[in-house]
Amino acid sequence: MSVTTDRVVYMDNNATTRVAPEVLAEMLPYFSDFYGNPSSMHNFGGQVGRKVAEARGKIAALLGCSPDELLFTSCGTESDSTAILSAIQSFPEKRHIVTTRVEHPAVKNLCERLESLTGHRHKVTQLPVECDGTIDLCKYEEALTDETAIVSVMWANNETGVIFPIERMAALAKERGILFHTDAVQAVGKVPINLSAMKVDFLSLSGHKLHAPKGIGVLYVRKGTPFIPFLIGGHQEHGRRGGTENVAAIIGLGKACELAGAKMNEENTRVKALRDRLEEGLIAAIPHSLLNGHKTERLPNTTNISFEYVEGEAILLHLDRFGICASSGSACTSGSLEPSHVMRAMGVPFTAAHGSTRFSLSIYNSEEEIDYVLAHLPKIIADLRAMSPFWAEAMKSQAGCGCGCKKG
Ligand SMILES: *Cc1c(COP(=O)(O)O)cnc(C)c1O
Repeated sequence: MSVTTDRVVYMDNNATTRVAPEVLAEMLPYFSDFYGNPSSMHNFGGQVGRKVAEARGKIAALLGCSPDELLFTSCGTESDSTAILSAIQSFPEKRHIVTTRVEHPAVKNLCERLESLTGHRHKVTQLPVECDGTIDLCKYEEALTDETAIVSVMWANNETGVIFPIERMAALAKERGILFHTDAVQAVGKVPINLSAMKVDFLSLSGHKLHAPKGIGVLYVRKGTPFIPFLIGGHQEHGRRGGTENVAAIIGLGKACELAGAKMNEENTRVKALRDRLEEGLIAAIPHSLLNGHKTERLPNTTNISFEYVEGEAILLHLDRFGICASSGSACTSGSLEPSHVMRAMGVPFTAAHGSTRFSLSIYNSEEEIDYVLAHLPKIIADLRAMSPFWAEAMKSQAGCGCGCKKG
């Protein structure tokens, strides 16, 4: 499909974000002038080490923890793997893992791998979610047993933005002596976090979801939590993760966390207002559109809407012609158009799950950009429906789906 505009309207911030200009500026000298190894004995390296320590402090400030509870990894995925693999190695006699059906593949696929490839050594409970993407805490409590080595539950869902009650869930795990990990990749920078007041043992975050570069992650390990390294090597990170630190990215992440803390209010007011304007505008202008996910227990930047009887992939291609970047809940995996595991877990009807479209905003979006999407998307959907035999059929029978989640 030919691109008809040079304009880029970026509304896919849950996939990755722009590196903030302030972050880039902070990083650049560490590629050129200050290229020392932070572990070196000489001052040329030592000054870099001090800058890394400063960044660690800024990240700890955003999370409400102590800097020495943080270790740097290569990405959110590595942080997730490190936490889960550490826990199951620390408690080899406990063979049960509790997670949810809506986790990011970084957690979901690892848990499934542990269940299938190690001769069924581990049993994994993937908790279901309600139709609005929220979790039933009774079902959660019932899943926790003496056999459970670790609970791994995401703080906020990347597809819907739905937020889980992590503080409560961590406390319930702790009462039973179970380690608790949260993949907070989507939450950090968007919702307030104070780890010192919580019973969380492990927390994962990723730089590129909060305006730092790709290729840098952090794992929080609560002081006193048993820990077994994932990457074995040198003495970096107090022996908790071998490998020379990704210095520039760490410094960038420190700056990004400082900015995120300072801009948290803007995220929760201006960005949320933009998101609501987009969401309400689309749902009002496009018949048979349904919100996926709880209306309020949700990240301020994310909206996921299903447009019944159209394919998400088709919507994205047409949006792309206008330079609008969004994302779809139907992942084109191995050639088959399957609705995402998140949409399936929520029980979004087939006719709607395929048309689910995610817009994830950031502080760099403007009201004018929202109006631009509102000006183009209703016509795109109408045109696609005009070509859809399913739509024609549904309109004839007056069926529609009308079966969206009534909970949220
Ligand atoms: C992006 C993302 C990850 C993976 O982070 P990477 O740094 O890309 O490995 C994990 N969990 C969630 C919820 C995410 O959105």
